[in-house]
Amino acid sequence: MTAYRSVIEAQQCILSHVSMMPPEEVALHDSLGRVLAGDVTANRNHPPYDVSAMDGYAVRFADIARTPAKLTVVDDIRAGQMPAIKVLQGRAARIMTGAPVPQGADTVVRVEDSEQDGNDVSILVSPASGANIRPLGENLKNGEVVLSKGTEITPGVLAILAMVKQKQVSVFAKPSVAILSTGDELEGLDEPIDENKIPDANSHALYAQCKALGIEPTLLGIAHDNPIELRAKLAEGLKYDVLLASGGVSVGHHDFVRPTLDALGIHMHFWRVAMRPGHPLAFGTSENGAAVFGLPGNPVSGMVCFEQFVAPALRSMMGHEKLFRRTVQARLSHDLKDRAGRMHFVRVTLSRDGDGYIATSTGTQGSGVLMSMAVAEGFAVVAAESEGLAAGDTVTVQLLQGMDFQQDTDI
Ligand code: AMP
Ligand code: MG
Repeated sequence: MTAYRSVIEAQQCILSHVSMMPPEEVALHDSLGRVLAGDVTANRNHPPYDVSAMDGYAVRFADIARTPAKLTVVDDIRAGQMPAIKVLQGRAARIMTGAPVPQGADTVVRVEDSEQDGNDVSILVSPASGANIRPLGENLKNGEVVLSKGTEITPGVLAILAMVKQKQVSVFAKPSVAILSTGDELEGLDEPIDENKIPDANSHALYAQCKALGIEPTLLGIAHDNPIELRAKLAEGLKYDVLLASGGVSVGHHDFVRPTLDALGIHMHFWRVAMRPGHPLAFGTSENGAAVFGLPGNPVSGMVCFEQFVAPALRSMMGHEKLFRRTVQARLSHDLKDRAGRMHFVRVTLSRDGDGYIATSTGTQGSGVLMSMAVAEGFAVVAAESEGLAAGDTVTVQLLQGMDFQQDTDI
């Protein structure tokens, strides 16, 4: 087990040890945000015939090549109505957007470019030959793959699934996730206030971070720093696909999480990452494939580690290709002191300046100062080698608001 991996090495190690969940069928509306587990083939042509893209007149181009041209209106075709009359020479059919183009016609003239007078219509402006017609199969061609495996289901993708009548959609399943907070000092949300205790924030921070990814985790509560109790609760958590254990992974006298995981037969792949905050991070896997994260107890550290390591792992398990938070380049509004050796994730707010972003620290950056996280819009990533940055320097900022992810880490 190597000590002090870089953030990138730790991410790669984790991603190499988690696997994609099996497919499951979900109702169309529940598929939003999920990832297709197979290709989707069109079961029809759309549009099923040439349709008009405009309200206007279906004509033979040869009749209107020279304008003005006067034609006799022989039909009135609405969307959803099959035309019965062929458009012969010198004739036109009034047609609405989405209505089938009648036989004989090859062009649609916009109503704005015409003037109807009784049964006649004068075409004032001639469009190009074939204009304003959406050809059969322009949107979807029967039998063709229209969405491929691995596609993330956005509202636009969901609309295509509806068009091909996928009332049930095959997507990658979500992993089951258990969250366990550890520490003798912790007080649960439902317990009465004891002035000498520390309220358990991490269970709920991690819950919310999972929820934002579309996963409903199970809260296993609080385990005391006691190897027997810890063993029972960690063993319970190992029944899930992913176990997030918070606290007790450092070098303190009562930090029993790692030895207990060892005793439970977990293969620990690494412990400690060269980052700030969050360096006491442990990662392991069980024989049956459960992934275990030993997250640092400091609330900010735990949340930063979730974003850097847990979120990419969970997204990868759900079949996503975009695993990492979207980044932007921003200029610092102030100097930033730093020590070389660890990659630093500075919590920042962002503002606009012309066509760029300005990043400003959210204040005291202690790993226990949860407010620095609560108001953050992003993490400014300061390279491990950096000995500090000056106002005006450019930094990469990971965007924390919303659910915008990209393929590359960019850090
Ligand atoms: P640990 O990682 O267990 O050494 O804890 C580091 C710091 O984080 C200590 O000050 C703990 O009291 C605090 N801490 C640990 N777990 C939690 C939690 N679930 N909620 C809030 N603070 C915590
Ligand atoms: Mg502790």
